[in-house]
Amino acid sequence: MKVTRIAYSARLNPGKYAALLEQARRLGRVRSEVWQRYGSIGGVGSGLRDRQVRDRWLADGTHVRFGVLANAWKETVRDAMADIGANLASAKVEVRRAIIRRTGDPGERKRMFTALKADQWADDPFLARQMRKQWKRGKNRTHDQIVVRADQHNTVVDGRGLLWLAVPGLQRRQMVKIPLSTTVAPTGTLRLILRGGRVEVHYQIDASQLRSSQRPCGDATVGVDKGYTEALTDSDGQRHGVRLGRLLTTESDRLKERNRRRARLRSIANNAARRGDHAKAQRITVNNLGTFKRDRQAARHRARVRAEIFTAVHRVVDKAATVVAEDLTTSFAGRKRLGRNVNRRLAAWTKGVTAEALTNVSERRGSALVHVNAAYTSQTCHRCAGLGRRSGDRFHCTWCGVVWQADVNAAINILQRAGDPDIALHTPHRAVRQILQDRTDRHRTRLPVQDSSPATTERRANHPNRSAMSN
Ligand SMILES: [Zn+2]
Repeated sequence: MKVTRIAYSARLNPGKYAALLEQARRLGRVRSEVWQRYGSIGGVGSGLRDRQVRDRWLADGTHVRFGVLANAWKETVRDAMADIGANLASAKVEVRRAIIRRTGDPGERKRMFTALKADQWADDPFLARQMRKQWKRGKNRTHDQIVVRADQHNTVVDGRGLLWLAVPGLQRRQMVKIPLSTTVAPTGTLRLILRGGRVEVHYQIDASQLRSSQRPCGDATVGVDKGYTEALTDSDGQRHGVRLGRLLTTESDRLKERNRRRARLRSIANNAARRGDHAKAQRITVNNLGTFKRDRQAARHRARVRAEIFTAVHRVVDKAATVVAEDLTTSFAGRKRLGRNVNRRLAAWTKGVTAEALTNVSERRGSALVHVNAAYTSQTCHRCAGLGRRSGDRFHCTWCGVVWQADVNAAINILQRAGDPDIALHTPHRAVRQILQDRTDRHRTRLPVQDSSPATTERRANHPNRSAMSN
């Protein structure tokens, strides 16, 4: 398994940065051309490989007008085709879900899965309709990246111990030498991302090289519930990543305030421009509405949140051989537009990072990650299976009268879903509700029920909260 490492440039001279930026801009045009020609659903269906695309461009002279070296545009074509491929794969994930919802017949499911995998959806009306629905025609938005093949770059250490990375420029045999702020030389294919006057060098290393990959996982089976205040709450009642909430709130407040300030400045600049005071408008745009500081702060915040979430997942895996969790990749794919709402955007992004951390850490440390259907896990009492009410951080079971810490209750429910005989991963929401309702009804007719199984009694002793004690 591969993980991404990032090295940063250290005090890069502005002339070199400008040259790299120009190269990235030209390569952005290459990307746009690839998306334009092959990014439609028909283009993808044609099954073209990046090598065929390169041959065509060489034959018809498309490549000439970009003004970049051959290796650079070829690597960029490969990268853009891979992006289109990823876009296609994520559309297929949704279509696979639709197939499961449409039919329970194993033969029919298999036939459709196979057709989908082989890109032969066009002949099947249902698959064709679903693919058209899920495939969002993409557009290239990347104009700040340069992909450098493994054999096209090299590093040297100078007399002062500073590491320099040399990458191809716009002219043959004229390398651009970038000083790095690390002593570890990047290896393999590099992705240079140019942001705010600084070069980020992204590259992949094998996860087994990481120290954290050598840490063994635990031996328990643990359910986790993702939260906002803390990254994860587990079924033992422990909370992990407790600083997440504050990090997100502070950032959200800061962004709202900053957006307000920028909007005000923008309107002042616009008014000045309307009056003909272009010097003032220009001054405000350059001095107060730049993106340099903004982008750096955003990057720093992202790094902090990622660290908090990854540490939280490591803590869970320290004790777990199996982690049971909700499939967090399902609903954040941007079905609904999140718009400008800062909180919702942050929450959606955080959910994605949590999903990534769970997969990544589990794979590296050898624990199993089991995805379960999390429908109603925050509204069901784990003790009596009754549907109850959640208010704030409390869950009140209207059936057995107990009050639980809401997230601990949810984590235990998630753990129990792993062995649930009726509720499978893709059981529709409404069906889950019916199953839970039936269970409660069965329970009620068998009155009175005294649940005294040791596991629940112990959990109750460990995690009642104040109001439960006073009941
Ligand atoms: Zn209950």
